[in-house]
Amino acid sequence: MSSSFDAIIIGGGIIGCAIAYEMAKSGKKVVCVDKNPVAGAGSTANSCAIIRTHYSTLNGAALAKSNYPFWENWADYLGAAPGEVLAQYREVGCCYTCFESNNYGVKLEEIANEIGIPYEVWTPAKMRANLPIINPGNFHPAKSADNPEFGSQNGEMRYVLFFPKAGFINDPMLSTQNIQSAAMRHGAQFVLGERVVTIDRSDGRVSGVTLQSGRVLAAPIVVNASGPHSYLINEMAGVADGMNIKTKALRVEVAHVPSPEGFNFERDGLICSDADIGGYWRPEIGNKILIGSEEPECDPLEWVDPDNYNTQVTEQARLQAMRGAQRFPSMGVPNNVQGIADLYDASDDWIPIYDCSDLPGFYMAVGTSGNQFKNAPVVGMMMNELVDYVEAGNDHDAHPLSYKLPNMDFELDMAFCSRKREINRESSFSVVG
Ligand SMILES: Cc1cc2nc3c(=O)[nH]c(=O)nc-3n(C[C@H](O)[C@H](O)[C@H](O)COP(=O)(O)OP(=O)(O)OC[C@H]3O[C@@H](n4cnc5c(N)ncnc54)[C@H](O)[C@@H]3O)c2cc1C
Repeated sequence: MSSSFDAIIIGGGIIGCAIAYEMAKSGKKVVCVDKNPVAGAGSTANSCAIIRTHYSTLNGAALAKSNYPFWENWADYLGAAPGEVLAQYREVGCCYTCFESNNYGVKLEEIANEIGIPYEVWTPAKMRANLPIINPGNFHPAKSADNPEFGSQNGEMRYVLFFPKAGFINDPMLSTQNIQSAAMRHGAQFVLGERVVTIDRSDGRVSGVTLQSGRVLAAPIVVNASGPHSYLINEMAGVADGMNIKTKALRVEVAHVPSPEGFNFERDGLICSDADIGGYWRPEIGNKILIGSEEPECDPLEWVDPDNYNTQVTEQARLQAMRGAQRFPSMGVPNNVQGIADLYDASDDWIPIYDCSDLPGFYMAVGTSGNQFKNAPVVGMMMNELVDYVEAGNDHDAHPLSYKLPNMDFELDMAFCSRKREINRESSFSVVG
């Protein structure tokens, strides 16, 4: 393999693979490097892979809506080969619980109306009709397990918003490898099992990377798509000081709890962004309910070193399960709650950074904050266009690229995802984004 490229992508997760795919399609000689032996084995592997269109910001919702048809038509997006084993998308719909502190979801309704995201308003009776095991009670605010008020209910929810265009991908690692294969069909190369240890410079711009083995890859463009390691790569490149929004690795746990006796949640369940209990849930393979956290105020955030953290589930997963049992009273909480522990690459305001940097030729697609799996296809396209825009001599910081989102009539002002932006106060400051 030659060691000279048009572009190097650091990270073969869903984001890095999608960028490599678009760059290769546009004729660039691109190489994607990952320290793992296979693509998609980083934080993407443990993603809950929920595909939804509700976000707290208009731009966030538009980006998600723009991606939706690519998941619905996965084989077309990939230009898949006949007989290729592909990840599957299951559309089950997603609720959003509405209560006083989130202003009964009014903002989400406004956003949905503005950009044409379909939704319904479900009363508690309608919720029970669709999900008979549910208790549509109000539990807000979420509490820690040792709080004597834990589980106390204050009436019923007035309503939830139901978004029918939502679902999940059965195998996020496979979906990443599907994109990898598509990228390779267009000539992208992958160097796997090799860690980037330095970002190289020459004449005031990036000139490539050096790998742990000593091998040097040269390119005038390097993209940081290293997930929870993003801040380390940005420090290596010397671009961290030029960022107003920073990223850090946040450890999270997700519980997988057996469905209540006599109910098949895997088949008949749906997804819910349930801030009322401080979490989210969705059907999980093996007739389980998957329950994750939406970072309620009472829970401390666990910032970690991405190369040294506990990969076993602890009391955190048990707490998610206990919160889920408020919603599903017939669901038992096992003594040994199963699940996963992994990392978010969280930004200061839980909105991603898709941007250039203060080092010419060095770009970043980072800060994905537990909510950007669904956006990978369009992020790949947008990053490719951003690179072309900046390399053509445009000053993206002064005049940010306005990116025409596919599948809809919407221009995304990329200042929204700038590293130099002020904290976006419209954000939920949680995984909801
Ligand atoms: C538990 C969990 C649940 C989630 N649920 C959802 C969800 O329901 N919906 C949603 O949209 N999003 C969700 N997300 C977020 C989503 O999964 C991530 O935003 C997305 O997968 C990030 O992809 P990535 O390619 O940026 O990162 P990663 O998949 O982490 O890929 C980065 C890669 O970079 C490599 N790397 C790092 N450093 C180096 C180096 N020095 N040299 C070489 N390679 C390096 C790593 O090995 C890794 O493979 C969830 C995330 C988690 C952890």
